[in-house]
Amino acid sequence: MRSQQRGCAFFNSQRLMRPFNFSAGPATIPLEVLNQAAKEMSDWHGCGMGVMEMSHRGKEFISIYEHAESLFRELLSIPEHFKILFMQGGGLAENAIVPMNLSRAGEVDFILSGSWSEKSFKEAARYCSAQIAASSQSSGFHEFPDPSTWQLSSKAQYVHVCTNETIHGVECNTLPDLKSMGTEAPLVIDFSSHVLSRTVDWSKVGLAFAGAQKNIGPAGLTIVVVREDLLGHALSVCPSAFNYQTVAKNQSMYNTPPTYGIYMAGLIFEWIKQQREDDSTGVLALQKRNALKAKLLYEAIDASAFFSNPVSPKARSLMNVPFFLKDPSKDALFIQRANERGLLQLKGHKSVGGMRASIYNAMPLEGVQALISFLKEFESHFA
Ligand SMILES: *Cc1c(COP(=O)(O)O)cnc(C)c1O
Repeated sequence: MRSQQRGCAFFNSQRLMRPFNFSAGPATIPLEVLNQAAKEMSDWHGCGMGVMEMSHRGKEFISIYEHAESLFRELLSIPEHFKILFMQGGGLAENAIVPMNLSRAGEVDFILSGSWSEKSFKEAARYCSAQIAASSQSSGFHEFPDPSTWQLSSKAQYVHVCTNETIHGVECNTLPDLKSMGTEAPLVIDFSSHVLSRTVDWSKVGLAFAGAQKNIGPAGLTIVVVREDLLGHALSVCPSAFNYQTVAKNQSMYNTPPTYGIYMAGLIFEWIKQQREDDSTGVLALQKRNALKAKLLYEAIDASAFFSNPVSPKARSLMNVPFFLKDPSKDALFIQRANERGLLQLKGHKSVGGMRASIYNAMPLEGVQALISFLKEFESHFA
């Protein structure tokens, strides 16, 4: 039957718990959030319509939009001189949209730390003079290039850094302070795969963008945070719907924004806010939890003789943990057994192989503990 073919690889009618989903993106969403969305699917707050059916210019949706925007600003402590734009096109579209808006067709410096920054560099080269100021390719992208080695151009219009390389599992743990490195160029960060997992020092940032499908919600929404003074220099080839100034002037409603994605993002922002503990904000509480989750998982991998992670410890991502079996002929068996245990989507990215556990904000500590027990058990049976 067709419905069965389209079903999940993991199916156990007896199961009492939701499986843990380690997908790199689109990724797991807190069950409470999904349940609330389900409850409101056909009638949002008694207005007689579901969110998908509302005009983006009506008072109901405007209130959803304003709520999401102000929560996002609050959670990440984004100063008032930054605009928050809700756009479409995903991270890959931003690879073109950023240079179309900020490069003035001049020089741009790229820090290559993995597949995503490489993609950004190649796409930007269509619109500007893209240059590699530093690269950790020779290490197999197992390091984050040390800022002391960056060769920045004095003419760069901006410096692009991917602060979490989702495929290689490399994270930039401290944002570089470009000013102290002798350049006035703004820092552009692709923080798609760790947005809201940690705080951001906005004094070091000119623009940040993130596709939603990792830590924010469903695919289709892209959030751009841009310092006001960087607006207004788009190349003439830039589509109006992708001109940051046009989008900002119209409160992200120049075209119809991804309304349902914005609504879901708002629910997730509320969930994040609720994660706060007595003395800290939601993001700080998650940051602490994320550090613990990652520490436990890396410790288990490092302690094992069968599993390994090649990334230099100081550059290891708290969000995406690639790991490899000593005997790759057991990869398929590993995936099968993991699925049976309710540990889903652990297959690594096709470009690097092996496994990858993405442990975003919505992955509870229990999910990481279940994965660690499974790793130990698999090793004892099959190593
Ligand atoms: C997922 C991701 C993107 C976005 O990819 P799209 O498919 O275009 O949404 C961009 N950058 C990074 C670092 C990512 O992890």
